[in-house]
Amino acid sequence: MMRELYTQIIMDHYRSPRNRGELAGAEVEEHLLNPLCGDEITVYANFRDGKATEVKFEGRGCSISQASASMMTEKLLGKNREEAEAEIERFKTMMVGEEKFPETEDLAALRGVIQYPSRIKCATLAWDAFRRGLGGRE
Ligand code: ZN
Repeated sequence: MMRELYTQIIMDHYRSPRNRGELAGAEVEEHLLNPLCGDEITVYANFRDGKATEVKFEGRGCSISQASASMMTEKLLGKNREEAEAEIERFKTMMVGEEKFPETEDLAALRGVIQYPSRIKCATLAWDAFRRGLGGRE
């Protein structure tokens, strides 16, 4: 039952991505490839008064990579750089099975991906790109 719901959430973000599009001349712009699956993501962000006022992405690839990018834009919108770093760390920790997001968050749907180790990189691609864009470690 839960698994079906998770699949629905992922497919909803894949088919109707949130905050998709290019942000020309954005403060943060970073492109990353996942050659294992053929996924591509470019993330964009602009900050005002320290907060991310715009977070967008463009990309192509599997449903997990694109859905995760869509969820990430929603999660990081309004966050300052430190908070964004912390959210990225938290997500990556979830993807190694050590952190849980509340079931009410769409992001919880990606936890099922842990069962397919070859797909974890799909889920973390956008987040890695954003972290790199912020100038942090990958
Ligand atoms: Zn993929």
